[in-house]
Amino acid sequence: MAEFCGHAHPVLAVPCATCRAKPGGWCKRPSGHRASDFHQSRKDLADALFIRQHGPDASIERSATGWVIDPTGYREDREGGDGGVDVLPLFEQVRKAS
Ligand SMILES: [Zn+2]
Repeated sequence: MAEFCGHAHPVLAVPCATCRAKPGGWCKRPSGHRASDFHQSRKDLADALFIRQHGPDASIERSATGWVIDPTGYREDREGGDGGVDVLPLFEQVRKAS
């Protein structure tokens, strides 16, 4: 099980196939410097694993202390919800594209 809430960013829960960063490690540029964003393949993997572990209706949101998984947050947000849910943009984008 990937620990999506155990890192500074949920994508850090999975390894990167592009630059071979380990879980918990930031993506690297070919020069070895830390990249400013995660590689797309890693974001896709994180999204796929998140849906597999938590279901298509779950969302992950930033809390005061880190990240929390809401089992129905994505569905609530999609249906209007309370409008104040801060759904992680990258998970939103991947889902809309698929
Ligand atoms: Zn990477």
